[in-house]
Amino acid sequence: MLNYDIVVVGAGPAGSAAALKAASAGKKVLVIERGPEPGSKNVSGAMIRKDFVSSVFGDSVPFERKVDTLKLSLYDKESPVNIDFHPNQLVTTGRLKLDKWMSSVAENAGAMVISKTTGLNLTWDGDKAKTLITDRGEVSAKSFILAEGVNALLSMKSGIRGDLNTENSVQTVKEVYSVKKEDINSIFGFPDESTGMSWRFVMTDPLVAGFLYTYKDSVSVGIGSPINQLVERKIRPEKLLDDFLDKTGLSAKLKGYSLREYSAKVIPEGGFPNMNVSKGNVYICGDALGLVDPLTFDGISPAIASGTLAGTAALEGFTPDIYKYEMMKNTEISKIAKERKLESEFMSGNKAGEYINMISTLLKNWASGDLSGIRGTMIENYKNIIPDMLSFVINMR
Ligand SMILES: Cc1cc2nc3c(=O)[nH]c(=O)nc-3n(C[C@H](O)[C@H](O)[C@H](O)COP(=O)(O)OP(=O)(O)OC[C@H]3O[C@@H](n4cnc5c(N)ncnc54)[C@H](O)[C@@H]3O)c2cc1C
Repeated sequence: MLNYDIVVVGAGPAGSAAALKAASAGKKVLVIERGPEPGSKNVSGAMIRKDFVSSVFGDSVPFERKVDTLKLSLYDKESPVNIDFHPNQLVTTGRLKLDKWMSSVAENAGAMVISKTTGLNLTWDGDKAKTLITDRGEVSAKSFILAEGVNALLSMKSGIRGDLNTENSVQTVKEVYSVKKEDINSIFGFPDESTGMSWRFVMTDPLVAGFLYTYKDSVSVGIGSPINQLVERKIRPEKLLDDFLDKTGLSAKLKGYSLREYSAKVIPEGGFPNMNVSKGNVYICGDALGLVDPLTFDGISPAIASGTLAGTAALEGFTPDIYKYEMMKNTEISKIAKERKLESEFMSGNKAGEYINMISTLLKNWASGDLSGIRGTMIENYKNIIPDMLSFVINMR
């Protein structure tokens, strides 16, 4: 049987960060990935904070376009309010390229990465895992890191964490269209092919968080909506995506371009810190701990941060309490935990709708050059939610 110091399951951002940390310390590290290659289960793209990814993996982060404009469209009952931001460190990136690159950085540090291999089960001696059984044989190690993404079967089978709670989760649907570089530039008014944008949308009743990212020669669009709201209103997610594309005018912009990819995935609303993070010598990280923000879709940085920490935990032999404590000290990870209350507040009833209507009413009054009626409007329409909102923000820790 093969023997390693540390075995990592999953070659996504969390797994590669964990492997890089452990291999850089001179340990004998094996990463197994069930896909044909790292990133192959995540073929489309994402928006990332390039500086953060660089700080862990080095400078040559592969990216598609800079996000020169981050646009936010708030849809109230009438018409959208649009706000533009001009961030300076956001980029769009292809997941296949990004994941392959991060995995190669871990390999260069000494980790062994084997694809087309699925982890099936851990064998245990008391509360210490001894071996990992895969579809291609068994491997033993001193520690194991489970970086298996949202469908965390091994973490669940091992009894470390429970099943996904779909009642409080967000269903996402995403489409990627092939669009020529020149066409992207002309549709979105970009001067060249390194310029790009990311567009976030918030709609209410049901609550929908939509997004658009521009890559070099493709555009991805998608939505996420709380599963309980879809069930209550008997709406199918694919219909919600179609409605979203029509309402925002994106279907007209993308008309005639071929659909390259269609995918659906659940983002868990719950997870860390209300979940065990490890057992004995087994440490969980990334999406397997629910470390993704269902309102902003920010998951790659927390995956990298928690993967690095899982690598340290395996090197140092952290107990579950210490691992959890160190996670709460890490700002990338603790921000997700702190935002949980905000997410459930937003997702309960039609609270999000009320907040959005209030913000857009304020902005529309300002844009019309008449703020004289604001007191009346606010008292008339929002007298109940303003105290709610203030007390919620005050109590948000
Ligand atoms: C629609 C959508 C849009 C998103 N957009 C963004 C975005 O723009 N920016 C952002 O930062 N985040 C985004 N996210 C979140 C982001 O994709 C995740 O948070 C991130 O990929 C988590 O990384 P991970 O390494 O934990 O898991 P993953 O990236 O899912 O990697 C897990 C890996 O483990 C492998 N694996 C699983 N089980 C096994 C097994 N038993 N044996 C072997 N291998 C296994 C899988 O094949 C996979 O390669 C988005 C998510 C969704 C659903």
